[in-house]
Amino acid sequence: MKIGVAKETRDGETRVAMVPELVGKLTGLGYEVAVEPDAGKHALIADAEFVAAGATIDHDAIGTADVVLSVQPLPSDAVRRLTRGAATISFLPVNQELGLVADLRDVGATSFAMELVPRISRAQSMDALSSQALVSGYRCAVVAAGMLRRFFPLNMTAAGTVQPAQVVVLGAGVAGLQAIATAKRLGAVVKAYDVRAAAAEEIRSMGAKSIDLELDTLEGAGGYAREMTEERAQLQMDRLAPYVADADALITTAAVPGRTAPRLVTAAMVEQMKPGSVVVDLAAETGGNVEGAVAGEVVRIGNAQVWGGKNVPSSMPGPASKLYAQNLVNILTLMTTTGEDGIGSFAPDFEDEIVDKSCVTHDGAIHHEPTRAAIEGEVTS
Ligand code: NAD
Repeated sequence: MKIGVAKETRDGETRVAMVPELVGKLTGLGYEVAVEPDAGKHALIADAEFVAAGATIDHDAIGTADVVLSVQPLPSDAVRRLTRGAATISFLPVNQELGLVADLRDVGATSFAMELVPRISRAQSMDALSSQALVSGYRCAVVAAGMLRRFFPLNMTAAGTVQPAQVVVLGAGVAGLQAIATAKRLGAVVKAYDVRAAAAEEIRSMGAKSIDLELDTLEGAGGYAREMTEERAQLQMDRLAPYVADADALITTAAVPGRTAPRLVTAAMVEQMKPGSVVVDLAAETGGNVEGAVAGEVVRIGNAQVWGGKNVPSSMPGPASKLYAQNLVNILTLMTTTGEDGIGSFAPDFEDEIVDKSCVTHDGAIHHEPTRAAIEGEVTS
């Protein structure tokens, strides 16, 4: 069976879904690996490296593959080139891609969305949201350190003492904790806040101070945060305002699954920050934690430079691709059955929770129930 690796075509996407060092894992499972020309170009991986690792370079890698791997969902024209019954594995934000999901159904593709892999212990090695959040969180802290025109660490020198930067991180999930760890490694004094009850201990374990706003915690399903009421949001902003005003660098990473990012900081709060302050909003693309932040741009609000994140993992395409490719190898391994001849074939077991929950379309039907309801609703209305 053949695995096809797509060249990404979306604007600003620099990652690639497979890296040469992991091709051997796929050939070891019994697959042939075909890569579209220049698929790794933006991640600084040459076609020759894929060939040296045992892959072929093939203009029609998508049209001849049994399983197609990509980072972003395939564009519609590529979906139309899939062989009937082929599988695709990629990020696939189903809410935003209803048309594409219908196309995948219509060509009979079995499609899997990496966002839908359940966050259970057994699936940790396949958790691409986490692997990419690790990259984003690190990058946020480095961007803040780079933009701030002062030291992060304390310096005690013969010429005097330079005080460390004060960094505030809002949202302490995978990305936020990595931002905290990175800012701490650079020597900043870090305070952080998250609405989940477990977060305070996680923040402290990274060496940061957990901000206590004396508000109820907001635990939702699966250990995620719940959305705030307007009243709770206002109270949280009022109580966070002095921490924001004191920060040299503010990093925001808060998200609630399936919702636009919660607004945590108003422009008026940013206006209270000191001259030279920086704000890094990782959630700018999904609605913004900070009022006025623009994805992919640096804007000035009051005294602060406000950086809005846009496809942040693409700013570190090498490591982001490698981590993502490892997630894919792990999920492919789960979906591969090895025959007595030692040759593997792609045979996802729909009794398996990971397969069942991450599958979007299969056998000409939409397997993911909420998406099926959304699309059928569209068709009948
Ligand atoms: P996420 O990207 O959905 O959200 C980022 C953070 O923002 C979360 O910590 C959330 O609590 C926080 N947040 C939401 N609203 C907020 C608000 N109003 N103010 C402040 N913070 C707010 O989250 P994530 O990084 O994907 O992780 C969320 C949870 O999932 C964590 O408990 C994490 O440990 C868990 N997790 C489990 C697994 C696994 O078991 N495989 C993997 C990754 C994450």
